[in-house]
Amino acid sequence: MADLIIDGATIITVDPQRRIISEGAVVVEDQRIIAIGKTHEVKQKFSADTRIHAEGKILIPGLIDCHVHLAQALIRGTADDVGLIPWLRDYVWVLQGNFTPEDGRASAELCIAEMLKSGTTSFLESMIHKRYGLDGIAQVVERSGIRGCLSKLFMDWTGYADEESIMYEGMIEDPEECIAETLAMHEKWQGAGDGRVFIWWGARTPGAVSPELYRRVADLARRRQMGITMHLGEVKEDGEYTKSQFNQLPAEFARDVGMMGRNVVLVHGVWISPQEFPIYVETGTHMCHCPASNAKLASGIAPIPEMLQAGINVCLGCDGGPSNNAYDMFREMFLAAIIHKARTLDPLTMPAETVLEMATINGAKALGLERDIGSIEVGKKADLVLVDAKQLNVAPTYNPVSNIIYAANGSNVYTTIVNGQILVHEGKLLTLNETEIIETAQERAHRLVEKSGVNIQSRWATN
Ligand SMILES: [Zn+2]
Repeated sequence: MADLIIDGATIITVDPQRRIISEGAVVVEDQRIIAIGKTHEVKQKFSADTRIHAEGKILIPGLIDCHVHLAQALIRGTADDVGLIPWLRDYVWVLQGNFTPEDGRASAELCIAEMLKSGTTSFLESMIHKRYGLDGIAQVVERSGIRGCLSKLFMDWTGYADEESIMYEGMIEDPEECIAETLAMHEKWQGAGDGRVFIWWGARTPGAVSPELYRRVADLARRRQMGITMHLGEVKEDGEYTKSQFNQLPAEFARDVGMMGRNVVLVHGVWISPQEFPIYVETGTHMCHCPASNAKLASGIAPIPEMLQAGINVCLGCDGGPSNNAYDMFREMFLAAIIHKARTLDPLTMPAETVLEMATINGAKALGLERDIGSIEVGKKADLVLVDAKQLNVAPTYNPVSNIIYAANGSNVYTTIVNGQILVHEGKLLTLNETEIIETAQERAHRLVEKSGVNIQSRWATN
């Protein structure tokens, strides 16, 4: 007797043959997929404790968000319509620099609840500061059922690109402590929650980390087989900094200090030149595209079609609450599919299929987990999402991939399954208390703004 059968669905497998199976069924046992096929065939061979009838629904691999700031859900909407450097200096760092571990936990719950309800089954968190409470965040990942890579930040300088001593006091960390805490987190949490928790290194950007510290962490990561993630080329100033200080392009600098490799996910790549592409390809470094954040902060549009053409593995990420402002991969997929068409004036740029690959199998490769997740295949972990196609904004369905990318949104997610566990069903979150999370977030957000003294204004008067 298997654990779960989902039948009657249109299955977009994203397997090596890119099969789409209509009237399809998937069987799950012990966290993994044990059979896939036409419903009538699968029904003859298998029975299960739980059955989900999925007629009118599209089954996709769980979505993988490769760039998330868990602590920024609580400061959603605090810094809209501001450019990146004042956005960090005057709002985000000040607010985050006043976080307590209770704020960190409340923010992680809000963020993870939103991700699960909108079909994200795995994520890479980019930079956790010790003041957000490392254990509290890991506990939320464990309890919620999601799969998460948590990166503890490291730094030893206080700049950002060409801006020296720009970092808010509450955001500064001691380099030795950064290293000790990351190693301790790795000992304690790596593999927790039935193998769903991973500990990574979260590098601050060039200007905040010395070449010596980058090299030291690169070495530790290699020896312990840990991942590293870093923002790079988000703004023009990144390139100006590596040029003026080291006479190198950002990718040359990153390679030189060990921040390139198969275990590295670099994020944004808006200001990247074609001369840098071969460095990504040769080293197997992954690039995470965050189109909403880059557009909203007026950073620019990353040359993603060109990077894909060059053979770089590109995945997708939502970034954070004040830069996106949602953690909904459907919105991100839609934007990734349309924004490059507007830039290149070519409607064939970034077809729906390419974008779905970025949000699934490419994300799995970036996390080093492509043997386990990223597609619906026998032997892989059951990280699955059912999208209700019988909704006004989705129906009718001619091409299911097209509907997922261009028409659907996170609210159309009917079921989310991670590691064979049903975490969202009939649109309801089963592992976390949604009402409580919203109330706590509201209360803590007000307290945080008051404490940090940040003035959040609307251009229109509020009575
Ligand atoms: Zn970011």
